[in-house]
Amino acid sequence: MSDITHNLAQVREKISAAAQRCGRASEDVTLLAVSKTKPASAVAEAIAAGQRAFGENYVQEGVEKIRHFQDAGVRDLAWHFIGPLQSNKSRLVAEHFDWCHTVDRPRIASRLSEQRPAHLTPLNVLIQINISDEQSKSGIALSELDALAAHIAALPGVQLRGLMAIPAPETEYDRQFAVARKMAVAFDALKQRYPTVDTLSLGMTDDMDAAIAAGSTMVRIGTAIFGARDYAARPNVNL
Ligand SMILES: *Cc1c(COP(=O)(O)O)cnc(C)c1O
Repeated sequence: MSDITHNLAQVREKISAAAQRCGRASEDVTLLAVSKTKPASAVAEAIAAGQRAFGENYVQEGVEKIRHFQDAGVRDLAWHFIGPLQSNKSRLVAEHFDWCHTVDRPRIASRLSEQRPAHLTPLNVLIQINISDEQSKSGIALSELDALAAHIAALPGVQLRGLMAIPAPETEYDRQFAVARKMAVAFDALKQRYPTVDTLSLGMTDDMDAAIAAGSTMVRIGTAIFGARDYAARPNVNL
């Protein structure tokens, strides 16, 4: 068994255990394998082990992998863009990805809507919330959520699916859980108003248990599956 196959099995086991502990079904939590900086060969190993949803942070690197697997005839993958999105890269996201987790302003949502090709299903969109209120982080305040959600819900070519956050690192479970609950409360309220909303993208390697207990439906895991990242060796670093 390869390392990636073994790691994936362990991460899936952890997700099931966390879900069971709080009385949730493990199928309610989707595992997003974050493959940023990792070569297509690593993604191929994960695919062979049954993984289908992948997260990428860098537009061009992600597009190269998407094309690689399309050319190889692998059709049932879901590609999620989870990095900060600049306006000049929105077209590539709209044309190639299935999801974008980091929508945090009306303008970028409108661009994705206009740029989504008509022959594709709508781009699934999550609104990024700056839940720890860090000045340097992207994402909107919860007080701005209603307006941005209404804007996105009215656009063609994109579908509002929910919320995403990258909380400030916390080592204590209780504090991780408190922040995650704030997100879950906002998510539940949004779900009441928009029937397309079903996804709360929350939880990484170190806060996955608390995120799942709080109500996350999608955890984003990189290192625990693919090993440590070497940014210097990242493919297409200049693109
Ligand atoms: C890199 C990244 C992850 C995965 O982080 P790991 O610590 O490798 O599990 C999850 N979410 C986002 C937004 C990331 O950029």
